Amino acid sequence: MAAEEHLDKKLTTKILLGLLLGAFAGVLAHAVAGPSPRLVWVVEKVTQPAGQIWLRSLIMIVVPLVFASLTLGVAGLGDIRKLGRIGLKTVSYFLATTAVATLIGLLLVNAVRPGAGLPQETREDLLARFSGQAQQMAQQAGQTQFGVELLVNIVPRNPVAAAANFDMLGLIFFSLIFGAALSILPEARARPLLGVLEAVGDAVVVIIHWVMKLAPYGVFALIFSVTALFGYDLLRKLLWYVLTVLAGLLVHFLGVYSILVHFLGRMNPLDFFARTKTIIVTAFSTSSSSATLPTTLQVTERNLGVPREICGFVLPLGATMNMHGTALFEGVTVLFIAQVFGVTLSLETQLVVVVMAVLIAIGTAGVPSGSIPLLMIVLQVVGLPPESIALVLGVDRILDMCRTTLNVTGDVTAALYVARSEGYRLDPGS
Ligand code: ASP
Repeated sequence: MAAEEHLDKKLTTKILLGLLLGAFAGVLAHAVAGPSPRLVWVVEKVTQPAGQIWLRSLIMIVVPLVFASLTLGVAGLGDIRKLGRIGLKTVSYFLATTAVATLIGLLLVNAVRPGAGLPQETREDLLARFSGQAQQMAQQAGQTQFGVELLVNIVPRNPVAAAANFDMLGLIFFSLIFGAALSILPEARARPLLGVLEAVGDAVVVIIHWVMKLAPYGVFALIFSVTALFGYDLLRKLLWYVLTVLAGLLVHFLGVYSILVHFLGRMNPLDFFARTKTIIVTAFSTSSSSATLPTTLQVTERNLGVPREICGFVLPLGATMNMHGTALFEGVTVLFIAQVFGVTLSLETQLVVVVMAVLIAIGTAGVPSGSIPLLMIVLQVVGLPPESIALVLGVDRILDMCRTTLNVTGDVTAALYVARSEGYRLDPGS
């Protein structure tokens, strides 16, 4: 099918090239022109809008894609008991692996203590420089639901409003129930609607094909915009913090994923990473699990051979609920900020951080910096000033790119595990 060709090797190489060239050109422009008004103009008026157009084209297809693929996925499973079993397995996998990620982060941040050595003047400087941005985030945090409220709001009052507001948990809940209901109807009754949804899914695939053709340019524009205006001085000032987050992410990515893929997915980890590289590059460049979802669905089915009904169920759920990188980042950041303020968090408080990080991973929107408002709530819960998030905002984009890569790759490991454990034979293309 022509639409499938878009993920061919040539395109993946082109996207990778876009990423490397974008980073190189951005760093070069920064070195030559610094944050000059002309460079700021180019970024704000040319590359950023271009990148955003590409990103929005991907996000545009997420709502129809999630509805169609989840409903079809659930209906395709056929039997409600099977759905319950797969659902339980998927969510348990999400929770357990997210907790592991958070623990890795906490172990590292306790060992390295990156916040302990941060000079007082750096602290004051960062707090002052990013206080405006922190206030904006605080407003968002004020509107964010958490705890019981989050649980109640998973059930949407109006599924159309949930879709319109990009309320993914609400949309997912409705699609699950709707798919389950369709699977109970007699075949002849359900068939016409399933046919329509299949056509919706197919049309979305064609759109993905078009949008992904533009990926090398979109990725170039996004990466250029980040690197050209990035505050590299901040990277130096927050070096130990950044390195701690990155080391944690790397351990989870290479270590934990290899173990999971080998033992639970029964696949060679190197083969796994090679087959998922389009997903990895897209997640890294977009910093958005939701924007990556169309690619994740396509590649997991085509390159790993995970059956459509499992992909359609596990991956949309994962893009919203399963965020290993985010959880790890949250754990490290809360402790880092505590260390900067000279506050020692007891073991019990750190356990609260683990639980909250796991919950946050479920509640976080899969968009760039989606976790920051929720992180501010955690800071408050453990007795730290939420505005102190200003300390890390300057380096957030770079960390977001890396943590999103884990968030999405973690979803793919889950799909692989669920497919294997359900006894499916995977048929990855060569
Ligand atoms: N950008 C992340 C994602 O989409 C969420 C976050 O950690 O801010 O997965």
